[in-house]
This record gives sequence, C-alpha cells and structure tokens, in this order.
Amino acid sequence: MKNIFVIGIGLIGGSLVKDIKKQDPSVTVYGIDKKDAVLSEALSLSLIDEKATLDDLENADLVIVSIPVDATEKLLPVILNKVNDNALVVDVGSTKLDICKAVENHEKRRNYLAMHPIAGTEFSGPSAAINDLFVGKTNIICEVEKTAFKLQEKALELFRNIGMRMCYMNPEAHDKHIAYVSHLSHISSFMLGKTVIEKEKNERDIFDMAGSGFASTVRLAKSSPAMWTPIFKQNKANVIETLEEYIANLTQFKELMKQDNFEAIYNEMENTNYIKDILKGIN
Ligand code: NAP
Repeated sequence: MKNIFVIGIGLIGGSLVKDIKKQDPSVTVYGIDKKDAVLSEALSLSLIDEKATLDDLENADLVIVSIPVDATEKLLPVILNKVNDNALVVDVGSTKLDICKAVENHEKRRNYLAMHPIAGTEFSGPSAAINDLFVGKTNIICEVEKTAFKLQEKALELFRNIGMRMCYMNPEAHDKHIAYVSHLSHISSFMLGKTVIEKEKNERDIFDMAGSGFASTVRLAKSSPAMWTPIFKQNKANVIETLEEYIANLTQFKELMKQDNFEAIYNEMENTNYIKDILKGIN
C-alpha cells in the first residue's frame, strides 16, 4: 500500500500514519481535513507528505477515516463512491452500528473494514499525534466477513505490524460493551469535573488541594466535545442504560451514607477492589 490517505489528521489519524510510516518509510501520506490550517500544521509536523482533497481518492491504496462519528456516517458512502476497486477504506470511529448501517448496501461494501482501535488520549488535533500509540492495544474489528478477503489480509498485516491485537465483534455488541468501558467513564469524568468546578466558584482554594487522584479521575474531562457529542448521540440507548445503572449505584452509596452503614460501604469498596485483577496489565 503506497498511497495512504488520511481523512481527519488529528490524534488518531495522525498517530496511525506516524506508525505506518515508521514501518514503511516509502509510503506517501496524503492528508484531507476540514481546515487548510490543520493540513498545514500536519505538513509542518511531517504527519503528511501532501495536502489532498476527496477528488484525489481514486489514487488511494488505503483510506483511513478518522473524523467524528456523525461525519463518518455521512462521508463514508461518498468515500466508497470515489475509491478504486482495489482500495481499502477503514474507519476508526468509537461507535460502529450506525456507521456500518450507512454502507451496508453500498456496491463497494467489500472495500470497507469497520474498526475501533482502543487507544487514545484526552488531546486532539495534529499536535496530539504520537508515536507507538497503538502498541499492545486492541483493535476491535466488526463484520470482518463483509470485507473482501484480500483487503482483510492487508489490513490485518498492517495493524499487526504496528503492534495491535485484533478482536472481532458485531457492531451491536461493540456499541453495547464500549458504552460501559469508555462512554460512561467519559460522562463520569465530565460530570465530576463539573461538580468540582461549580463548587470552586464559591471556594476558590479548592484546586490547591487537588491531588493526583483528582487529576487522574477528571483527565477524560479534557476530551473534545466535538468528538464526544456525536458518540453519545449515536450510542444513546446503550449510554442511557449504563447511566441508569451508574446512577443507581451512586444513589445506593448515598443511602448507605445516610444510614451510617459504613460496614456496607466498606464491603462495596472491597468488592470493587477486584478491578485491580481485571485491569492487570492494562496501561
Ligand atoms: P481529532 O484529534 O479532533 O481529529 C479529527 C480531525 O478531523 C480534526 O482535525 C477535525 O477538524 C477533522 N474533521 C472533522 N470533521 C471533518 C470532516 N467532515 N472532514 C474532514 N475532516 C474533519 O479527533 P480524534 O480523537 O483523532 O478522533 C477521530 C476519530 O477517532 C473519531 O471517530 C473518534 O470516535 C475515534 N477515536 C478516538 C479516540 C480517542 O481517544 N480520541 C480513540 C479511538 C477512536 P476540526 O477540529 O476542525 O473539526
């Protein structure tokens, strides 16, 4: 794959092409983005070799779509219309069901591979792109059987070479499970940040007391609302279900506090300490 096009040259798109180029310096990376200033920044950071537009996609061997999920849903059919018959198109969106549905009957459906690399940071834009973001990380692949076998093979080799482990799931299961381990954690972090910011309006010294525990729990609240709002919209039903369960747990915790039932609170926390075993080896 010599001509690689990345649409959306931010954290994920930029980090992916950095790693791909490290594996094979002979590839040419073309960038497409909403704003020319973003492309210029990507050029100056050497993330891309050339600026391009959607009309250049006929020359692509690989197209990486790394834009917000609502934009992916709209643009993916247009991208498939433009690519040649041998091109591979992948998207990295954090939701999969609506995106897969948008192209389920497209005549070039076999040129598309739906995936979600479980890697990221709270930062965005070209300057957020980093080396080795995907080493040892899981890449969830959906509906692999709908992608042409030769293109599947190329994609799997490429993503294995940059250090990823593949995991296969249908889009419905992906969106349900990811709501718990990713979408809920972001809402929880945003709302914890909001609660403390609101309190700080009246008590200005509160952040002087904030320690690393606070910083690590609100880290995700620095994430981009432009990226997260469409994710919550596309995964609304699953996210509401997780929120109901989470709110029930918070309410129960509050009730135990009111009842002075600190033995039950101790047990709740001790049972949850099991998370240490579950997360062993995940950084
Ligand atoms: P990002 O750093 O904000 O980069 C996205 C880039 O795409 C921005 O430059 C944005 O420009 C541009 N863009 C937006 N709409 C566009 C359009 N219609 N056409 C061309 N360019 C467009 O975001 P990211 O974190 O890389 O996320 C990209 C995708 O990766 C999303 O689908 C997200 O769900 C997925 N993902 C993210 C993470 C994570 O942790 N961040 C992890 C796994 C997967 P503007 O800023 O000007 O809008």
